[in-house]
Amino acid sequence: MQPIIAAARDAAQLCRLVQEQYLVASAKASGAQTEPVTIADYGSQAIICRALQAHYPQDAVVAEESGEQFLQLVADEQREQVLSLLSQVLREPVSQDELVAWLDFGVDRLAARTWVIDPIDGTKGFLARRHYVVAVGLLRAGQVSEGIVAAPGYRDGAGALFYTREGATWRAPLAAGDGHRVTVSQRHRVEDYIAVQSYERYHASKSRMARAREYAGLGDVRLLELDSMEKYALVAGGDADLYMRLPREGSAYAHKIWDHAAGVALVQNAGGTVTDLDGGPLDFSQGETLPNAGLIASNGAHHQRVVEAVQRVMAE
Ligand code: AMP
Ligand code: MG
Repeated sequence: MQPIIAAARDAAQLCRLVQEQYLVASAKASGAQTEPVTIADYGSQAIICRALQAHYPQDAVVAEESGEQFLQLVADEQREQVLSLLSQVLREPVSQDELVAWLDFGVDRLAARTWVIDPIDGTKGFLARRHYVVAVGLLRAGQVSEGIVAAPGYRDGAGALFYTREGATWRAPLAAGDGHRVTVSQRHRVEDYIAVQSYERYHASKSRMARAREYAGLGDVRLLELDSMEKYALVAGGDADLYMRLPREGSAYAHKIWDHAAGVALVQNAGGTVTDLDGGPLDFSQGETLPNAGLIASNGAHHQRVVEAVQRVMAE
């Protein structure tokens, strides 16, 4: 994981530079809606895929952005900006051909190991200067095994880097340095319990999640709202206890594996539980999307009760 962890750190640095110098978004098609995308999304993915190509040339990649989309959406001036930032962060000259080749490294390939990349998860949070992460997950034979999440806004904004190694989850300073092991919290008392959920109201049903907490006897817990897979990192690091994602009524949104793989790895390796809405496992073996309608991640303390509460809410 070491060279890919280093790449995730470089990618987070590039995201910060874009935020400081050139923050503009394009709109890209995503199913029936549009989603924002910035040069930081492309730059971040290029850095991670460059490292994968160098260290794991046989592996497959599923990533959010593509070279074709970069060439279609990004204007000349912005292309120059991202190439200049990449050269700065990587300390070597980078050409547009290299950038496009890195973006598409490992796509449409079958291999025993598949890296799953969200170069900026929480692009809306990134644009609004809230929370976002750089996320890299690893699937082995269709099962989540490892994860890296670089979270520049972790907690007080000091940032943190989370990764898995040897069946455990580790937290390190974002910029550099070794990690220490973290585990999910031991909290179970309602007065101490902390729940997290999406900031964006279109991404999950806040009313259904409130009802599910109430039915599970967790109606009075502290609730934090933030963008991105940082929510999984909070549960894995013991700083939160429950992360629910329930679909809005009538929503047929198909969750993308890159929005979850790295986070699920962090929570599972930290001793936590992640399930589908009915308590079964999430299924990462079906290509780009998850067949699951939502998810529940927790420190395990009230998991079964939350599953039952969610079942009741979904049946209403
Ligand atoms: P979060 O900040 O946890 O809501 O996660 C951000 C992710 O939500 C983005 O990467 C989007 O791909 C994803 N997303 C976008 N639209 C939706 C939607 N309608 N329902 C669920 N997730 C969505
Ligand atoms: Mg995402």
